[in-house]
Amino acid sequence: MMGTIKERDVVFCSFCGKDQHEVECIVVGPEPRGITAICNECIEIAMHTVISVRIKARGNSLPDRKEGE
Ligand SMILES: [Zn+2]
Repeated sequence: MMGTIKERDVVFCSFCGKDQHEVECIVVGPEPRGITAICNECIEIAMHTVISVRIKARGNSLPDRKEGE
């Protein structure tokens, strides 16, 4: 489950170190040993990374699509 930021606490992004006031939003994840958080900017970077990896994977070998159906 993902939690939202408490207004009183300043939350820092675990990736870039920016606080919640420097970015649009921060998603906080549950972590027993401390808060793990990611800001919208790092989420976008992560998304691009995932997409580029997928594109590369497709480039090397096309997904097994059934033809002629
Ligand atoms: Zn960040």
